[in-house]
Amino acid sequence: MSVMDIFETMDYGPAPEGASPALAWLKEHQPFNLFINNQWVQPASGQYLDSVNPANGKVLTQVASANSADVDAAVAAASAAFEKWGKTPGHVRARYLYALARQIQKHSRLLAVLEALDNGKSIRETRDIDIPLVARHFYYHAGWAQLMASELPGYQPLGVVGQIIPWNFPLLMLAWKIAPAIAMGNTVVLKPARYTPLTALKFAEIVQESGLPPGVINILTGEASQVGEALVRHPGIKKIAFTGSTDVGRSIRRATAGSGKKLSLELGGKSPFIVFDDADLDSVVEGVVDAIWFNQGQVCCAGSRLLVQENIADRLLSKLLIRMERLRVGDPLDKAIDIGAIVSSTQLQEIQRLVARGVEEGAQVWQPSWACPTDGYFFPPTLFTNVSPASTIAQVEIFGPVLVAMTFRTPAEAVELANNTRYGLAASVWSDNINLALDIAPKIKAGSVWVNCTNLFDASSGFGGYRESGFGREGGKEGLYEYVRHAWEAQLASPSGYTPTGRAANGASSSSFTDSLLAGIDDELDGLSAPETIELPAIDRTSKLFIAGKQARPDSGYSRTVYDPAGQALGEVGDGNRKDLRNAVEAAHKASGWATGTTHNRAQILYYMAENLSVREDEFARRIVQQTGRSHVDAMSEVQTAISRLFSYAAWTDKFEGGVHRPPLRGVVLAMPEAIGVIGIACPDDYPLLGFISLVAPAIAMGNTIVVIPSQIAPLSATDSYQVFETSDLPAGVVNIVTGERDALSQVLAEHDDVDAMWYFGTAEGSKRVELASVGNMKRTWVNYGRTRNWLDSVQGEGQEFLRAATQVKNIWVPYGE
Ligand code: NAD
Ligand code: MN
Repeated sequence: MSVMDIFETMDYGPAPEGASPALAWLKEHQPFNLFINNQWVQPASGQYLDSVNPANGKVLTQVASANSADVDAAVAAASAAFEKWGKTPGHVRARYLYALARQIQKHSRLLAVLEALDNGKSIRETRDIDIPLVARHFYYHAGWAQLMASELPGYQPLGVVGQIIPWNFPLLMLAWKIAPAIAMGNTVVLKPARYTPLTALKFAEIVQESGLPPGVINILTGEASQVGEALVRHPGIKKIAFTGSTDVGRSIRRATAGSGKKLSLELGGKSPFIVFDDADLDSVVEGVVDAIWFNQGQVCCAGSRLLVQENIADRLLSKLLIRMERLRVGDPLDKAIDIGAIVSSTQLQEIQRLVARGVEEGAQVWQPSWACPTDGYFFPPTLFTNVSPASTIAQVEIFGPVLVAMTFRTPAEAVELANNTRYGLAASVWSDNINLALDIAPKIKAGSVWVNCTNLFDASSGFGGYRESGFGREGGKEGLYEYVRHAWEAQLASPSGYTPTGRAANGASSSSFTDSLLAGIDDELDGLSAPETIELPAIDRTSKLFIAGKQARPDSGYSRTVYDPAGQALGEVGDGNRKDLRNAVEAAHKASGWATGTTHNRAQILYYMAENLSVREDEFARRIVQQTGRSHVDAMSEVQTAISRLFSYAAWTDKFEGGVHRPPLRGVVLAMPEAIGVIGIACPDDYPLLGFISLVAPAIAMGNTIVVIPSQIAPLSATDSYQVFETSDLPAGVVNIVTGERDALSQVLAEHDDVDAMWYFGTAEGSKRVELASVGNMKRTWVNYGRTRNWLDSVQGEGQEFLRAATQVKNIWVPYGE
């Protein structure tokens, strides 16, 4: 093309980035082996897999195909390395992370080109977005390694972490996984995605060059069925961190249930992009381009549902069609293209299938007039209008450059439409009315909300999902907790021999830990108090269930007898069932206004509960004595501690505040801890009152509404508390109580799709059942694996751990300026 021609058409010419240094690097190293103990090791299988360039379908190189024997070797190396790395001073770890960040910057061009070659994403994006964010992630976490001792006192690393990442942001997802893990003193075995292993292998070389101790970082390429599954099941691994599809996340939740492995899941999304009629439409159009055509739409948080206020819909859509016509699809190494190649032919076929489905379902499809290149896996920018909110393309994650548009009339309708999804990863809100935008942001169930911007990421600001988009956060201080545990957790008693037949049957206390603890307390109290003679009241009354602020008869019409430790009947409680739980969950949902009330008001009610409990402390202590056979003095200390605990959470209610992040942008990110919603809670058997209060108080303090299953063997302290709730102005439905068989009821709550989280403090087996049952809606679970904590101790029994379990962090991005 001559200059004159270019002048005539004003067309862009190609501006290709050279691939030769990257291709030479590949050639030099191929075939690639596994990276274990800082060495390149041949795979046990002796087999290799092709890595393909999706822009032309050609094989780039071969990488090793690991199997479970290689996983064993890598975990062994990581375990050995952990012995030292876990105790290495934070400053030393910080220096290694800093060195990695520096090396990544030095190799940034090679990494950017390799990423574009292997994934098909544009060089403009890998160069300006992926790789800079990778370096930033290591710098940021070098800082947390340095500060761990002072900022996370009492925490320690977990051990060996298994990390599994997807292909859409290969090196960035690696950074999101590895940087926080090693900063906190863990060692890792990471599996890159099958389609995109190459930048991880270059990173392995950087690890070698940076002199990281052998075994701290191990990288295994290969198939999901070989490497991924073996990692998930490996007993030497203490945590799995996974990013990928919701279906695989679900299978990992099942596979790890009951194992005690910590788990964080970053899953799929169908994020809304909401445009109000006062938004600046030209900015909106550019926003849409970044929301759905960035990375070919293969972005978990892509703004894939365009929700437009009806009165501007036509205007916006016609602007958008003009912009689509001018987008360019082509060679990822051409700096002037907007959209590169789809990662694989399988993924391309999936996009084609879903687009065909949209057409079948009657939506109107819009694509540019020009044709895509045909020598690779390309797909044009696509827009659907006339989409019904329940149709496949409006509900299913397409993971391609396909946008569906729908309209709304009022802000309330926008929120309803936005939340009409099983996912909850991100949202983008466009309006020149900041009051409106900031009113909408908290109402959307998503982990990140971008106001007048989209797809912004930074290491300082946690990223992660609500609902079926998973749980756990990556980035920010909140992300660190995914990789640490309290030092005291290692000392917790192992699972007790408790069986749900209760004390009456086996005549023994539920927990040897509690026994020895209480024996200690009893020793101290010896001489202070003579043992009390307990008067047993006649069985004259059955405690009912407590649902929607009212005492309710159990649906079954049956009651359960509560026995004292000597096997004598003490009273009766309702035998709750599935129907009762359904009513309780419904009541809890109806009480959701509790979350949006003022924190001051919630604090007042918690103080009031404490006050009303203290008026009746003697009566509550007697009830504990009856149910447990412990001394009155000891029972009094349980009641006193419960009162103090209510005070603690009343105090926290208006003080657990979140933060303001300062990412490198003109603007702020507001990190807000939000209530999770409806939480199901199964209480421990030790400390009938304190165990109950220790879980109820933080949950409601943070604005959740709850369905509680009290201790199965000592439920009367919970049922006695109805009057305390009633006299403390607690709104109906905030706390609902269903007595009965703990594990059966827990299972129902864990399976319930309208329950957003489940806490369970019972047996190891019951914990496993809860984790297994949670996969329906991927609810967050918090279980004790049968290990008893010391509820009397304020370090184990209360504090920020409970508040974090009761909240999820939403990051709201608010840029400044015109
Ligand atoms: P995928 O779930 O198929 O695979 C993800 C990773 O898991 C790959 O490394 C794969 O090999 C491995 N894997 C697959 N089956 C496994 C199994 N049974 N056991 C263990 N490991 C297994 O997802 P994908 O197609 O690679 O990535 C696309 C998906 O990832 C999309 O749904 C997208 O939304 C999601 N994603 C989420 C985020 C986030 O942060 N939430 C980020 C990127 C991508
Ligand atoms: Mn590839």
